Amino acid sequence: MALIVKKFGGSSVATTAKIMAVAERVLREKAPDDKIVLVVSAMGDTTDELLDLAGQISPHPNSREMDMLLATGEQVSVALLAMAFQQLGSVSVSLTGPQAGVMTNSVYSKARILDVKPDRIKSELAKGRIVIVAGFQGLSPEGDITTLGRGGSDTTAVAIAGALRADSCEIFTDVDGVYSADPRVVKAARRMKEITHNEMLEMARLGAVVMQPRSVEMGKHYGVPIHVRSTFTQEAGTIIREEYTMQEREFIIRGVTHDTNVAKIAILGVPDRPGIAHKIFSALANAAIDVDMIVQSIRNSDQHINDIVFTIAKADLAKAKGLAEQATKDMGVLRVVVEDNVAKVSVVGAGMYGSPGIAATMFGALAEAGINIEVISTSEISISCLIQADQVKDAVNAIHSRFFQG
Ligand code: ADP
Ligand code: ASP
Ligand code: MG
Repeated sequence: MALIVKKFGGSSVATTAKIMAVAERVLREKAPDDKIVLVVSAMGDTTDELLDLAGQISPHPNSREMDMLLATGEQVSVALLAMAFQQLGSVSVSLTGPQAGVMTNSVYSKARILDVKPDRIKSELAKGRIVIVAGFQGLSPEGDITTLGRGGSDTTAVAIAGALRADSCEIFTDVDGVYSADPRVVKAARRMKEITHNEMLEMARLGAVVMQPRSVEMGKHYGVPIHVRSTFTQEAGTIIREEYTMQEREFIIRGVTHDTNVAKIAILGVPDRPGIAHKIFSALANAAIDVDMIVQSIRNSDQHINDIVFTIAKADLAKAKGLAEQATKDMGVLRVVVEDNVAKVSVVGAGMYGSPGIAATMFGALAEAGINIEVISTSEISISCLIQADQVKDAVNAIHSRFFQG
């Protein structure tokens, strides 16, 4: 007997025919005494359509009501999938995130799972039912529905797998594994048999949407290996685990990622004295806005003024600009300038630490492609460059071919 959590993403359940196909595949691959928990996303582009509906009513919808609205997408797919099992003569039960015991904090639209209370799931499994949980949603301490941020069903699946101590956690999606770059952008991208939690986490943070970053953090925390594979084929896929177990061909760089969901804010002419950066970034932190690349440069050392440039998610741009203006309004800054046609390209690989020349190779690839770098940032296992958004495909391809030749 195995306890298996399987997550099916939006494109895997985009139509009722695909929902039937998911139910058929689950039953075909299930051993008689396996216990199965399915986590399902909203059908196709439903989440985008719901966001669009809200936008037709208000440019700034109330965040509680927004989560109430977005959570409905996943409820449609779990109910339909349960009906599909019934149609195939099998017993299943659909549960919302709150019914499944997914407890989160109160940050609407990007809530974090604090705990999964798996009693209900366990009792349904004990009755011999396939349990189908709505991904992407949970319950706040105040008793409200929250959502977990785009791609959040991945995190629901891994958190439930961790809480149940499941034997495996499979993420079924529209690609057959994790590649060295987004295979829709780089034709020559290579599929990996394995990748470590740390490298996958960095790739996900830097834009590889195949896994939500928080889900990989959860996998690392609970020691859950995550198997990424295709809904539509039988390919072996990629295992995300703590350490490599096999020797794949050695590349210092594991992946090249890109992220167009970024925006840049420049605060020009900030006084050069202690406490200024603290004031600006505390205001952003208090509003739960994640700041990514940060650069402070000297504008004029005689007049003691600096420029501070940072990047954030595009969705936070209007709010962050307002907060930056508010925080700096009595400081006599010259201007707060925003730009949202930027993108970030990054290289990721645990092996780059101690391998000089990776940055030079990356910058060389960009230079040869005629691409200007606006901001650079590094971590122990990644290097990122901010560039103009319309050059992102060229940039990813140029960098990928430099590191993955032959
Ligand atoms: P789902 O709806 O199943 O959650 P997503 O669209 O969230 O699917 O994630 C799958 C997509 O991730 C793929 O279609 C692919 O374009 C994209 N992707 C980006 N980077 C990578 C990568 N390095 N490897 C595989 N897929 C990637
Ligand atoms: N439906 C949500 C989204 O589109 C969550 C998910 O698919 O993981 O982001
Ligand atoms: Mg996804």
